Amino acid sequence: MNLKDRLLLRIQNDGPMTIADYMTECLMHPEHGYYTTRDPLGAQGDFITAPEISQMFGELIGLCLAQCWLVQGKPEKFVLAELGPGRGTLMADILRATQSVPGFHKAAEIALLEASPVLRDVQAKALQGYEPQWIEAISDFEDLPLFLVANEFFDALPIRQFLREGKGWRERLVGKNGASLAFGLGAQSAQAALSERVEDTQDGDLVELCAAASSIMYSVAGQIARNGGAALIIDYGDWRSLGDTLQALQAHERVDPLDQPGQADLTTHVDFEVLAKASHASGCAYTKLTPQGVFLERLGITARAQSLAAPLSGSQLEALVSAHRRLTHPDEMGNLFKVLGLYPPNATPPPGLEP
Ligand code: SAH
Repeated sequence: MNLKDRLLLRIQNDGPMTIADYMTECLMHPEHGYYTTRDPLGAQGDFITAPEISQMFGELIGLCLAQCWLVQGKPEKFVLAELGPGRGTLMADILRATQSVPGFHKAAEIALLEASPVLRDVQAKALQGYEPQWIEAISDFEDLPLFLVANEFFDALPIRQFLREGKGWRERLVGKNGASLAFGLGAQSAQAALSERVEDTQDGDLVELCAAASSIMYSVAGQIARNGGAALIIDYGDWRSLGDTLQALQAHERVDPLDQPGQADLTTHVDFEVLAKASHASGCAYTKLTPQGVFLERLGITARAQSLAAPLSGSQLEALVSAHRRLTHPDEMGNLFKVLGLYPPNATPPPGLEP
């Protein structure tokens, strides 16, 4: 039975499900999940990410984290972590770029949080020669300083959606209409987690809640506040989310998120304010939310592009110029993608970011 029929049956038996449950089934179902059954990245896949566009992205992230490690006194053992490492390209570029930082590799214990068995295999190949550990949950990090990156991880976490009605909220649910999946609304209820959103919303507004993101950030930030370290969270989204941002992508095109469950990537915009607040509640400092283009320019992406360009000509040179533009230009990923940095309250923020 395919995933759509399974979900229709489940809804028939148990009633409509939350969007968070729907996303979890579509992305992570052991047999039919989008991430559990394939490698969706790259030009041939459904979407492409910054590290897959150019090695410059991972190199600069690596040097940024290594600089944090240096200014925090080079702790002799630390966790170098990535959440949702995809094909392992970002971590491989981080490791290549930091080879020349004395002592960094010797001190690093590489830890990867990855739910997909298919992608774990791809990561193992990309990181041959290193000894990464795959962890099952954030609480599994060794209790050491934590230097962490997450690129396009938080956008894949399950969210719930609520529609404002009077002073209460109605949850947007996935139900059925004949043989099709269809959105509907649950009964009105109070939502303690949304009490702060009563001020900035009106009747008919839709807001999204990502419980998983808050709890992951709380835990990561707590470890950085206690032991030292830094985190770079990179994703599309903004300081506060308003409206329906659930989208489905297949072969680089937008499709209906209910049409073919498990066959399309489902994502939402990240609400960075929620991430920052969870980090603050855990005793960690956070930086200004910074556009990816600005962040990469400050780290020197243009100088790096020029040095990579020196021996190139023709189509290779064009590809490099186009990659630089895609990563940084405000009309491409430069503005849509944002960077939030975390750092211990007594330390300086990661290079390229401001307090
Ligand atoms: N960071 C990579 C890949 C982004 S795609 C890049 O920039 O190219 C999202 C990644 O997060 C995939 O590796 C996916 O399998 C992983 N992922 C999504 N949800 C997850 C979850 N709940 N737990 C662990 N990994 C998850």
